[in-house]
Amino acid sequence: MKIVLATNNKNKLSEVRQILEPLGITVISQAEAGADIEVEETGKDFEENAYLKAKAVYNLTKLPVIADDSGLEVDFLNGAPGVYSARYAPEGQHCRKLIGELSGVPDEKRGARFVCVICYIDENGAWHFIRGTVKGKIGYEELGNGGFGYDPVFMYKGRSFAEIPSAEKNAVSHRAEALRKLVGIFGNSK
Ligand code: IMP
Repeated sequence: MKIVLATNNKNKLSEVRQILEPLGITVISQAEAGADIEVEETGKDFEENAYLKAKAVYNLTKLPVIADDSGLEVDFLNGAPGVYSARYAPEGQHCRKLIGELSGVPDEKRGARFVCVICYIDENGAWHFIRGTVKGKIGYEELGNGGFGYDPVFMYKGRSFAEIPSAEKNAVSHRAEALRKLVGIFGNSK
């Protein structure tokens, strides 16, 4: 099976490949599929943004497409930055800003979760939504060199997502959970 991933984010592409390719699913990027576009994320929630991205690429390629929209929900910030995670701070300053906003907040109030919603448009043009989450805590400093985005401040079982090997992150992450559920849908939609 071949599927297009509607993203221009190389980190996401390699994470999705690492998870789906062992299952016999070939993942090609939207650029490789000839969809040279950047879709504006104007939706009010993860579902709407994932749909906008998947639909735009499906319209151009007519191939099965998956798009994900993801973000970080922080309990102390009532779920922010959530759908605005990418736009929360200027490039490279997201983690620092978040640590600043949680300055003085005790351990038990630092709960957070990554959310990933995938929109899958199948070969018949029908769409499906899948949601995955992973719970952790916001740390007090940036730790580790791996991953991307908020990984250095997302503490999972005592280590940040940027400290653990990518294979380990990809076994437990919000994206991994959503992709595992997606594989179940592939089986059912044939
Ligand atoms: P989008 O899904 O491309 O809109 O990106 C959402 C935002 O959430 C980006 O700023 C990412 O940095 C952040 N994000 C999503 N998934 C992860 C992850 O696995 N690790 C760290 N940050 C993430």
